[in-house]
Amino acid sequence: MSNNRSTSCSDALFIYNERYTEYRFHETHPFNQRRLVPAVDLLRTVGALHAGNSLTAEENIATEEQLLYVHSLEYVNAVKALSSLSPNPEWQRKAGTFGLDTEDTPYFPRMHDIASRLVGGSIAAVDAVMSGRTAHALHLAGGLHHAMPSKGSGFCIYNDAAVAIAHAKRTYGCRVLYIDTDVHHGDGVQWSFYTDPDVCTFSIHETGKYLFPGTGAVNERGEDRGFGANVNMPVEPFTEDESWLECFTEVLERTAAHFKPDLIVSQHGCDAHAFEPLAHVHCSMNIYRAMPQLIHRLAHVHCGGRWVALGGGGYDVWRVVPRAWSLLWLEMSAHPLLAELGRSPHLPLPDEWLKRWQPYSSEKLPDTWLDRTEEWVPMPRRTEIVQKNRQMKALAMLYLS
Ligand SMILES: [Zn+2]
Ligand SMILES: [Zn+2]
Repeated sequence: MSNNRSTSCSDALFIYNERYTEYRFHETHPFNQRRLVPAVDLLRTVGALHAGNSLTAEENIATEEQLLYVHSLEYVNAVKALSSLSPNPEWQRKAGTFGLDTEDTPYFPRMHDIASRLVGGSIAAVDAVMSGRTAHALHLAGGLHHAMPSKGSGFCIYNDAAVAIAHAKRTYGCRVLYIDTDVHHGDGVQWSFYTDPDVCTFSIHETGKYLFPGTGAVNERGEDRGFGANVNMPVEPFTEDESWLECFTEVLERTAAHFKPDLIVSQHGCDAHAFEPLAHVHCSMNIYRAMPQLIHRLAHVHCGGRWVALGGGGYDVWRVVPRAWSLLWLEMSAHPLLAELGRSPHLPLPDEWLKRWQPYSSEKLPDTWLDRTEEWVPMPRRTEIVQKNRQMKALAMLYLS
């Protein structure tokens, strides 16, 4: 494929539909797509979204045929059967076989339709980019990277990222580099393409020694013809910005140069932040400014700018998610606010946004785009953590020269 776009651009499409917020298990479950609302509102408040760069994606719902690119027919049938208001007892008994009876991923009414809509948004993002309508597309409701071909897992019913990648391969014949920045390993996507030489999955995450889903070790490299097209960069708990970014940058740059993708699909779980309740990494908003910047550059260097970005985990829905995902879109759309942020690291968030959402948050909302990390206490084992991450980084790059 030709690299027909320059090294940076503002040609980006934001895919959003208010119905994405219907994806929720129950009132007290940590994963709730209502977190999209304050994030989208922050972008609207700074004038980063308008009719010209947004797609409502009303009609974009994945077909059963598309789900079957990745998922088994038995699983899709189970999801459908368990989507009714009161599923029949036989299906309720079988829910466990498909991972849909757990505390993390319990079945809920209409979940087939609701999850298919999320998958449809990710497919629409691929189509928008591969048809040349736009260089970059963002679908924040996607990134449900833990769903397995025949099993729901880790809050994920259907794996929109894997289905969208399979769609890109089948429909456009492209080689896809998948980049997963979530603090949890991108296991569902990895295992979906483990033997596939045309899909390279890269994941940086807290080591599975201590964190769900337990996989993502550096020696998981792919199998058969897919050997080498699977890269894991596990980091230590309590890793901070500098070490996280060192590992991310070096290993990802090498991976992209080695694999030579036609399309990048990235997953932007923002749960490696120090405020995050479900993990132990200690990064700040700096990494959510820097990671999209690098991915943007790599998309232009290696694949003519073709870049699809998805959401993912993120459970501090007030202090972390809105800022992290807004920074991602500002980068994709080359918004002028980023130049201001470059000049003044304590650039304030809009007052009206803070006033609107503070009443909903039990924690005080940060009032700046980036964190005031100079006030943070350094991790006591920093030197040891940096060293351990460097050793792992060297192993991650073993087959990438
Ligand atoms: Zn660009
Ligand atoms: Zn996560």
